[in-house]
Amino acid sequence: MSGTLYLVATPIGNLGDFSPRAKQALSEADFIAAEDTRVTLKLLNHFGIKKPLISYFEHNRATSGEKILSRLLSGESAALVTDAGTPAISDPGADLVALCAQSGVTIIAIPGACAAISALALSGLDTSRFAFEGFLNTTGRKRAERLKELSGEKRTLVLYEAPHKLVSTLSDLVSALGSDRRVALCRELTKLHEETVRTTLAGALERYTLEAPRGEFVLVIEGAPEKTTPEVSLERAKELVYSRREAGLSLKESARLISEETGYSKNELYNACLKERELP
Ligand code: SAM
Repeated sequence: MSGTLYLVATPIGNLGDFSPRAKQALSEADFIAAEDTRVTLKLLNHFGIKKPLISYFEHNRATSGEKILSRLLSGESAALVTDAGTPAISDPGADLVALCAQSGVTIIAIPGACAAISALALSGLDTSRFAFEGFLNTTGRKRAERLKELSGEKRTLVLYEAPHKLVSTLSDLVSALGSDRRVALCRELTKLHEETVRTTLAGALERYTLEAPRGEFVLVIEGAPEKTTPEVSLERAKELVYSRREAGLSLKESARLISEETGYSKNELYNACLKERELP
């Protein structure tokens, strides 16, 4: 019978978050597969756990994954950990889980810290539906395409970002999603300098352009606003625009106000009125 693969979450800063069950899983596994064995060794030493470590990371996952699988199939049990947080979440591990699942190995999660979930809970934004994006592609066409897709996403967005890329990412988010979207920037969670800044995308860009971002960040961004279905006909909406015009407002201002009242886009109303009456 094959052994079990335990997915063991480790702290994202505060060692007090390491659960008794996680310690037990590491103590009882035959071996531990770790993203960076030096980082994991520190954790093991802190908790007095002695266990053989093997490395499983981005660039050896194919070969190391096969070795881990064959040991599991021969009856050994393994714990998979990453440098911090939940394995397989923006970390190596998802491939190993898929490989083991295909081979019928039992996989058990030992839950614990996950920066994305803590940040979402702290954000003050809608948590009922969210889209986890991990890290955006760094450059090029793929990044632009992804940002375009995200601009219409109605669920709350959760992104990871490194401090030295934060300003350029915020700048791209302002361009793609607009200035006014609310955002929570959760920094250094569970650590000494933990901080959550709740602002808008433009506010965040301004702040971190002036003050160099430090530490690890999760960005939680409000989803795209629901488009309201107009309850009045376009003809009626145009009449309302004309009546505002007669009251002395400009066409642009009238279209903006009636768009808010009716749900038609302000450009649609503006253009429809302009075309019909050739208004200035
Ligand atoms: N698997 C991890 C998890 O469960 O959260 C995520 C690993 S991912 C490689 C690392 C990213 O997670 C960082 O760049 C940062 O965006 C986020 N992160 C990790 N620890 C954090 C912390 N203490 N505070 C804020 N963000 C953190």
